[in-house]
Amino acid sequence: MAKIVVRAGTLVDGLGNPPVRDGIVVIVDDRIMGVYEGSVPGGISDDAQVIDLSDAVVLPGLVCCHSHLNLPGDGPLPWDFVKEGEGVLAVTSARNAKTALMSGVTTMRDNGGLGRTTFDLRRAIELGYADGPRLVLCGQPITITGGHCHYFGGEADGVEGTVQKIRQLGKAGADYVKVMGTGGGSPGSLSWRRQYSREEMAAMVAEAHRSGRKITVHCLSADAMVDAAETGADQVEHAGFFTGPTAQEFNWELAQRAGATGVYASATNCVSYYTLKTLRAKETLTAEDQNLIDYRNRMLEQNLYQVKKLTEAGMRFVAGPDSGWLWTTFDCMADEIYLLQQAGLSTLDAISAGTGRAAEALGVESRVGALKPGLMADIIAVGTNALDDLRKLSDVRMVMKGGRVLVRQA
Ligand SMILES: [Zn+2]
Repeated sequence: MAKIVVRAGTLVDGLGNPPVRDGIVVIVDDRIMGVYEGSVPGGISDDAQVIDLSDAVVLPGLVCCHSHLNLPGDGPLPWDFVKEGEGVLAVTSARNAKTALMSGVTTMRDNGGLGRTTFDLRRAIELGYADGPRLVLCGQPITITGGHCHYFGGEADGVEGTVQKIRQLGKAGADYVKVMGTGGGSPGSLSWRRQYSREEMAAMVAEAHRSGRKITVHCLSADAMVDAAETGADQVEHAGFFTGPTAQEFNWELAQRAGATGVYASATNCVSYYTLKTLRAKETLTAEDQNLIDYRNRMLEQNLYQVKKLTEAGMRFVAGPDSGWLWTTFDCMADEIYLLQQAGLSTLDAISAGTGRAAEALGVESRVGALKPGLMADIIAVGTNALDDLRKLSDVRMVMKGGRVLVRQA
């Protein structure tokens, strides 16, 4: 049995508990066997390999709740890139999975891709021919005919059609169900309108749960969010309040109805943040660029406000940046966690949103998401100033997945 002892300058357990100075994590094979403060009762055995991270913050591997592994995250419009076909998308997915893993993401939910690409990547990782996080997959996102992201191949309509689609995706290997509850950025879809009736939504939620799967719903409008939450969906994505193509109007009454269910939510704030970052780095800005900067600035400010209010209403936010979409990269979880803190979450709560609470939202908390005996040894280390500035969670010193060290920097 391989035994590893990690010495942590500061240990953050991912469950919101206060940080521990001089923490120790004992790992046997791929699992965490003990977490201690100061010393190990009975001492450290001679055959243990000691990894000294006494100059770092040690925490669980990050759990990303929203990504699209198929998409490169460096600008192309998703509906154009998908035309490259399954081979290119599979290779792109493998590259992205490795980038995410090296940035400290040891578990990642993919929120929809083409054909079998994400299932095949997971198999290649299992076989050892690719490196990547543990993947939680839906296959294709379910959408109405011609609806948002229909180009991934998940079109289904009506109670019968959507239920059948869930069964087909389950047969193909889906762990959970992703539904496009409203339109989105795709041409021809309306981001401020529901795509499905409440009856269809209720049927999809019931079928997902009947088959033992979680279901999360892309919601850019408040009425879709209320439908999803009240019919029992586990999570909403984006949590938007769009009332028209470019306008959001916060609605406290609907926020309270959705929030009262305690539904999980991802804010995907990185989409605006990375669009702004990319455009601001340009040497010359066109009038179109400037309009986009103004729009994304307004959206980001409004979304941070909405996260704060929805949290007050009872919604439980988790870190899901929407990696792959437009300019959103695969090493951006530090920024998404930072943006949740900017929306009003405490530092430790924001970290939980990207570790322990994220694992709960995905239903994988008995395996990953915390530094706790019995869980997989998915552990990362970052520089000591990460707790003062959460963006520094990107200053990765070690990544360990299942007891195997993949990154180690002094
Ligand atoms: Zn998405």
